[in-house]
Amino acid sequence: MDDATWVAALPKVELHVHLEGAIPPPLLWEFINEAGGDKYVRSYSDLLHKLTYRSFADFINAWIWKSGYLTSLDHFRRIAEAAAKELVRQNVHYCEMFFSPRRFLLQEKDVTMEDIVAAIREGFDCVPAVEIALIIDLVRDFGPDYALRSLESVKPLAQHYRIIGIGIGGSEHECPARDFKKVYKQARDAGFHCTAHAGEAAGAASIRSALHDLQVERIGHGLRAHEDVELVHELAAANVTLEMCPISNFHTYTARADHPYPLSDYLKQGVRVCINSDDPGMFQADLNDNILWLLQHEHGGLSRDDVKRCMHYAIGGAWCDAERKAELSQQLAAY
Ligand SMILES: [Zn+2]
Repeated sequence: MDDATWVAALPKVELHVHLEGAIPPPLLWEFINEAGGDKYVRSYSDLLHKLTYRSFADFINAWIWKSGYLTSLDHFRRIAEAAAKELVRQNVHYCEMFFSPRRFLLQEKDVTMEDIVAAIREGFDCVPAVEIALIIDLVRDFGPDYALRSLESVKPLAQHYRIIGIGIGGSEHECPARDFKKVYKQARDAGFHCTAHAGEAAGAASIRSALHDLQVERIGHGLRAHEDVELVHELAAANVTLEMCPISNFHTYTARADHPYPLSDYLKQGVRVCINSDDPGMFQADLNDNILWLLQHEHGGLSRDDVKRCMHYAIGGAWCDAERKAELSQQLAAY
């Protein structure tokens, strides 16, 4: 069996994917046309060109530009349905997905957090073949006060809409993890699981801070942990799961595809690493593409057994109950 066939049929779990980054480009193109078109992005090939980046800042600008076309609750419902269908196509059985509603909530003053979450759930419910839990991304750049308010607004919705955790993405340098200590403490007290993007654009110190100040169970990316050997040992000993996203890192220039990617080294050192796509629509690369890169590229460094080990760690790091984990583990073991 060739690698692509093997990867496509592997039963999968994905823990780090952003709803707003998972809009398939054809759907984004629909949104642009429904809005009457874009002054600069005049064709579908212009759109695909817009979705390739020259720097991390360029990626962020494209993200904000794209968010300008999410103007109704129906857009969120359609993205959720499309993202869920993409997961099924890739044979993902269980997924935990970030959503970051702030820009939309600012734009649409009459819309509530519950309206958005209900629209997203409605989209997911159209695709029962994949189970998706939600993680609210409180985005560092909006500051801890906003994060606290958002946390308050999702608390009463958590159970009904299955919002199981919190995270912080955004600018690691400008908005350090320690500023969010109080937010994470309150989230833990309210029963939310905790992850934080760290060691993506910033170095090992940012990961240390997420571990110690925020007491996270998982780290989003953790790419630069290798800069601090002691930290890698600590991650392994503490059973922290790293949600790594190789193709995202190449597209945002936080890693180079012509250098060895550290994932296989982390595995060798006993760190629990899982593989993810981050923003499959924005990078035009899904989870299968990420796994294939790690298997086939000279700097990927993974064998099929390693990939299965990463899937095993994804199941272990997932925030579903023990019964569901046992079921997912059985499906993986049978493959
Ligand atoms: Zn991310």
